[in-house]
Amino acid sequence: MNAPLIDPFARAIRYLRVSVTDRCDFRCVYCMAENMTFLPKADLLTLEELDRMCSTFVGLGVEKLRITGGEPLVRRGIMTFFRAMSRHLETGALKELTVTTNGSQLARFADELAACGMRRINVSLDTLDPDKFAAITRWGRLPQVLEGIEAAKRAGLRVKINTVALKGFNEDELFRLVDWCAAEDHDLTFIEVMPMGDLGNEDRLDQYWSLKDLRARLAERFTLTDLAERSGGPARYVRLEESRQKVGFITPLTHNFCESCNRVRLTCTGELYMCLGQEDMADLRAPLPATDDPALLESAIRAAIARKPKGHDFDYSRQHVGGQMSRHMSHTGG
Ligand code: SAM
Ligand code: SF4
Repeated sequence: MNAPLIDPFARAIRYLRVSVTDRCDFRCVYCMAENMTFLPKADLLTLEELDRMCSTFVGLGVEKLRITGGEPLVRRGIMTFFRAMSRHLETGALKELTVTTNGSQLARFADELAACGMRRINVSLDTLDPDKFAAITRWGRLPQVLEGIEAAKRAGLRVKINTVALKGFNEDELFRLVDWCAAEDHDLTFIEVMPMGDLGNEDRLDQYWSLKDLRARLAERFTLTDLAERSGGPARYVRLEESRQKVGFITPLTHNFCESCNRVRLTCTGELYMCLGQEDMADLRAPLPATDDPALLESAIRAAIARKPKGHDFDYSRQHVGGQMSRHMSHTGG
């Protein structure tokens, strides 16, 4: 293998998140506007180009690949790409291939994902109430997602539920969600809502439910033990002693996790974002070689990693949304 990717702050880059489409069959209110304009399909990296990109990163020491979007499972032919990536699992170069999905297509694809060597997936689910689910996703149907999650379980995939903590929306469902995950044996991670994109329909500060508060609420019913486990990302984990559940907290706004950041993000058009909270990116499409020689792409990747910033500038602390990003999460992939 070539020399691994090390950034200017001595962080080894081992984790690549790839958004394979900006499209989605849902319109979650905190993520997209209802009448989104999507990229022309011709602007997307082809599945072959995605393969070359990801394979080059794997050759440079990336061990974990998370496929996201938009909704990755609505991209046509995406299973071809997953099957192609599974070869890196077989050689051992890649330790984990995984996906973050809204679950709508899982009933169709769970078996195939498992057959590609996938072991764990993240499914986003903010509520167990069908009406609230329809309201928050605008276009989603809860039963379809629950069926998808069941299918994933049957296929042997371990499911982690990602729940965005939303004030006045799912505060009252905290224990219901926790109990459901315990009963179904799903891991659960709460995410603080981030100031991404101008969606024009709500005030991000109004929706902001700090995970510090959420954690305090959990502690009213459970004994929380902090776990040392770190993913190199913004998640921190606790064990709920009474139910022996693992619960994660992703707190990009109240907790600085940047010092151990091991990841970069590739968009569906070939832009590499070195930090979720900064505008700087490198265009990797131009140096994508027409031949199998990856030298040009490799040096573009190294030049980009050399620009990875120390951290992000999100800040809610002064009652304004500081460091707000104009990009949507569906662009960089959440
Ligand atoms: N469509 C897939 C899904 O929903 O899981 C993958 C892409 S989605 C952009 C990835 C994650 O980002 C989801 O868990 C979603 O809840 C989260 N997300 C989207 N917008 C967010 C925001 N403004 N703040 C925090 N999380 C957000
Ligand atoms: Fe789609 Fe995921 Fe964004 Fe919801 S959070 S609109 S499911 S990309």
